[in-house]
Amino acid sequence: MTDSVISTWETPSLPVAGGGSFPVRRIYCVGRNYAAHAREMGHDPDREPPFFFTKAPDGVFTGPELAYPTATEDVHPECEMIVALAKGGRDIPVDKALDCVFGYGVGFDLTRRDMQSVAKDLRRPWSLSKDFDDAAPCSQLHPVREVGHVENGTLRFTVNGETRQESDLNKMIWSVPETISFLSGLITLLPGDVIMTGTPEGVSAVVKGDTLVGHVDGLTDLTLKIV
Ligand code: MN
Repeated sequence: MTDSVISTWETPSLPVAGGGSFPVRRIYCVGRNYAAHAREMGHDPDREPPFFFTKAPDGVFTGPELAYPTATEDVHPECEMIVALAKGGRDIPVDKALDCVFGYGVGFDLTRRDMQSVAKDLRRPWSLSKDFDDAAPCSQLHPVREVGHVENGTLRFTVNGETRQESDLNKMIWSVPETISFLSGLITLLPGDVIMTGTPEGVSAVVKGDTLVGHVDGLTDLTLKIV
């Protein structure tokens, strides 16, 4: 972009275990992908089609410190497994979807829950309750060639050592290949896209001083201190 009329910026990226960085193009998040979380948010977890919202790629960062977000008094970090795509496409069949995956990591879908509640009540968009500065903290990514495809295993979220969320990836309502396939029917997926795969039950508020640890078996923990 040699003719850019303002200064340009670096492509947001995530570090990769073993070296290198993964450029992040877009972030898609699955809503209510664990039945028990759907119930705690007041919804019937029958197998409705998945729904999605987005976060700007600039929201990715790896910590170690997270400034408590602005314009909220009720921040909920939703601990989720993230999937990074090396390939994309349209209308990707479920049985081909995993071929698109570069690797996996752990992320927090940071949510300004108070702002989201107001938006829901007023039937306004949720966008800025999910998309704000540093709204997508993520661990480093682990390539498929090293960890294989991550389809089950414990997902755990602790605050100051106390467990708040604990579930198994096999409790996702929509599996990773199903999610990729469905999303590719809505938009053309592209290399660099990242999917946050939804959170299990136990979401709750955190405060300044808290130390958050997101864990998925086989991946690097995501550890953040809120300042
Ligand atoms: Mn979420």
